[in-house]
Amino acid sequence: MYEGVVQDLIDELGRLPGVGPKSAQRIAFHLLQAEPVDVRRLADVLIEVKARVKFCSVCFNVSEDEQCRICRDERRDPSVLCVVEEYKDVVAIERTREFRGRYHVLGGAISPIDGIGPDQLHVKELMPRLADGTVTEVILATDPNLEGEATATYLTRLLLPMGLRVTRLASGLPVGGDLEYADEVTLGRAFAGRRSAQ
Ligand SMILES: [Zn+2]
Repeated sequence: MYEGVVQDLIDELGRLPGVGPKSAQRIAFHLLQAEPVDVRRLADVLIEVKARVKFCSVCFNVSEDEQCRICRDERRDPSVLCVVEEYKDVVAIERTREFRGRYHVLGGAISPIDGIGPDQLHVKELMPRLADGTVTEVILATDPNLEGEATATYLTRLLLPMGLRVTRLASGLPVGGDLEYADEVTLGRAFAGRRSAQ
């Protein structure tokens, strides 16, 4: 344990994903030794990103404007909608250059243990997007783990009766993992080889 504000810094850093107590300490001491101007720049960008970056009102991707650049891009195919858990997945899929449609970011996955059901996700905002018949295919690109599967199964049951083509990514993604960790080639292949959901 360190004194006062140094320990506060270690505690705050330790709450970040993937940062254990050892790393938190290492980062804290790095910051203590860094030039004040460098630390100020980091602090400024943290405050700025929270102030400026919002979520797209249509798809819930991160965006600096009311609508994200993918929703605004008229060259994107409006007939295919890819449903993902997090905006990080949008980035991962965009990197594959395999997909030219639009997205819908759920904001997580169904996980009863964590008290997350469909109502805690952006499912109700998905429905109006499918109402006018423009979208003909929904690709369920949830993570290849328990929560992702539960979410995809739930959405399949919800969407199939609407007469939409509902597809899932092909197998080959590392099971139990996160979509964002799949390499571009694997993820690209999973996209190209997508199959109809049952
Ligand atoms: Zn958007």
